[in-house]
Amino acid sequence: MTNKYSLPRGTADILPPETILWQNIEQKVRKVLENYNYREIRTPVFEETALFKRSLGQTSDVVNKQLLELVSTKEEGFALRPEGTASIVRSYIENSLDKKESLSKLYYIGPMFRGERPQKGRLRQFHQIGVEAIGPDSTSPYLDAEVIHLSLSILKALGLGEITLKINTLGTPQDKENFSKLLRKQLEGNISKLCEDCQSRFERNVFRVLDCKNRDCKEVIKGLSIGTSYLSPESLAYYNQVKAALTALNISYQECPDLVRGLDYYTHTVFEITSAGLGSQDALGAGGRYNNLVEELGGSKADAIGFALGIERIILALGEKLTAELQTLDCFLLSLSDKCTLKAFETLKSLREANISCDMNYRSASMKSLMRLADKSRAEKVLILGEDELQKGIFTVKNMKTGEQSEIKMENIYQEITKRI
Ligand code: AMP
Repeated sequence: MTNKYSLPRGTADILPPETILWQNIEQKVRKVLENYNYREIRTPVFEETALFKRSLGQTSDVVNKQLLELVSTKEEGFALRPEGTASIVRSYIENSLDKKESLSKLYYIGPMFRGERPQKGRLRQFHQIGVEAIGPDSTSPYLDAEVIHLSLSILKALGLGEITLKINTLGTPQDKENFSKLLRKQLEGNISKLCEDCQSRFERNVFRVLDCKNRDCKEVIKGLSIGTSYLSPESLAYYNQVKAALTALNISYQECPDLVRGLDYYTHTVFEITSAGLGSQDALGAGGRYNNLVEELGGSKADAIGFALGIERIILALGEKLTAELQTLDCFLLSLSDKCTLKAFETLKSLREANISCDMNYRSASMKSLMRLADKSRAEKVLILGEDELQKGIFTVKNMKTGEQSEIKMENIYQEITKRI
């Protein structure tokens, strides 16, 4: 039989017990983020399409090819968020956070949407853990190093060891302009060797050539000699300070002159974290500084830096290391006949009110299948209620670990269960 409805391509159902893995990840991540004094922000999963076009850049792949726009009868267009930064900057401006605090240290955890060609590690709905530190005049090499350190600390807390941190700097918008001129000059003689996409990228946004995965393009990129000549002395000095701050934190990094990141808004520090075990989609996360975006989106001048880590990629990279502790119950009530169900149901309510996790069978069945049900619930104790017990005003309690069985008076059940758990 074919299913009438199926999961949209590039999305995933996360079922129990896998959801426990996700909860554990989120819990550990929140702890690290809060240790670094970042506070959670929640914004809608869709925004005005124009916001994404303006912030990510018309020539970025995310806007050009991957934006999932919502069909609406209204004139204004909306799109599902492909990343978190644009929404957070929109919210920062709209809520005048710059007037409320000198530095807003924000984090988010949630789904993002991109109309990608689905493959391993590349989904249409995926989840990111993201951080943005935004504030007027907040640029500091220490903040750059802190944000990078935070991204690594999160991965470490989740058990990821073998990862590589790649860093680069794009400098100021003027430096970026020099960088793009330098790239065009060096690529000019090799345009015919580039893929069709990159030939048009050469004109529209030459940085995108550096992100291309095409083998021929990669070969051309390998031959480039980028250096740091495109940077002003101030930008170079800033980059050196960031590196010194990373060294002070004992963080090892690889300098990658061709790391530019896929979105338009970056300035100065950019970074990416990769895991060798992931194959072609090897980026666990990435980020960088974006000192002009707040102003470009209509806010007052504020500097910012952030990153996003992909949860699905983290889970892929953790592989076998990832084990979920299955959810357990304090007790399971077994009603052996319909006559006992009401009493069991009332007991269930009072146990739950006493903060004891418990469940029951709602229909009677053979003892064997009831015990199987209790076993599957992973309950520590099973409270058995048959007609015999009902008459005597007791429960038979079975400890599922030791197999021991005892009888407990109904009126003592709450004290007994809490005493023993
Ligand atoms: P980006 O916003 O493109 O810099 O992505 C940041 C991180 O999000 C990446 O390093 C991945 O871990 C994750 N990511 C981005 N796009 C996808 C996708 N389509 N599917 C799964 N994870 C993704």
